[in-house]
Amino acid sequence: MSIAENVAHIRAQMEAAAIQAGRDPKDILLCAATKMNDADAVRQAIAAGVDCCGENRVQELTAKLSQDAYRGKPVHFIGHLQTNKVRQVVGKVDLIHSVDSARLLEAIDKEAVRQGIRQDILLEVNIAGEESKSGFSVSELFPLLEKMGGYSGISVRGLMAIPPICQNKTDNHKFFQEMYNLSVDITAKKYDNIWVDLLSMGMSGDFEDAIACGSNMIRLGTAIFGPRHYT
Ligand SMILES: *Cc1c(COP(=O)(O)O)cnc(C)c1O
Repeated sequence: MSIAENVAHIRAQMEAAAIQAGRDPKDILLCAATKMNDADAVRQAIAAGVDCCGENRVQELTAKLSQDAYRGKPVHFIGHLQTNKVRQVVGKVDLIHSVDSARLLEAIDKEAVRQGIRQDILLEVNIAGEESKSGFSVSELFPLLEKMGGYSGISVRGLMAIPPICQNKTDNHKFFQEMYNLSVDITAKKYDNIWVDLLSMGMSGDFEDAIACGSNMIRLGTAIFGPRHYT
């Protein structure tokens, strides 16, 4: 199937999942996870109507920006970002989903202040407490949020998570639901400098579950572009 056909099919699935959950399909954004896909594939996805593109690696982001691959849609950074590479990302993307440590947060803030801008970010939460994954634990999150008023270079726009792949739907929903509850709790607390309206969760294998639990930004790679070919 072509990228356009894949996107049309995904839109229908998104709509069905939203309606099933009593939600407005328009409230859910489709972010194309473009890693390992070239500028031409990115342009096809944009033409097919994805809402934004998400890049994982700084090198790919830089290359595709120089090719003007994202023309017409916002580009986001969704991969693990090393502090020594923030200069290549801050101010170049509309949103960084994957802020996973206080050190990275500070580096982004510093660079944004240097550029005289405010960078929109999401805080990545390690919702299942997995050793192998980065992200803030739930207990780290609230003390951090208390301090956000002190950062003039960033705006926290929401939360992001990559929950473990679970074999059954009940476990899958549990982590997505915990993320949703967390975002509701944060919004209710009204911290300075925080406007939590984005909840980035759900990938090709589990986006319908994520939508059922309140995700409003899904990040899909395989479902849009087909399998990635690692060399
Ligand atoms: C690759 C990637 C995705 C998309 O994964 P698929 O399973 O191919 O849909 C989503 N989010 C992040 C952070 C990724 O790295």
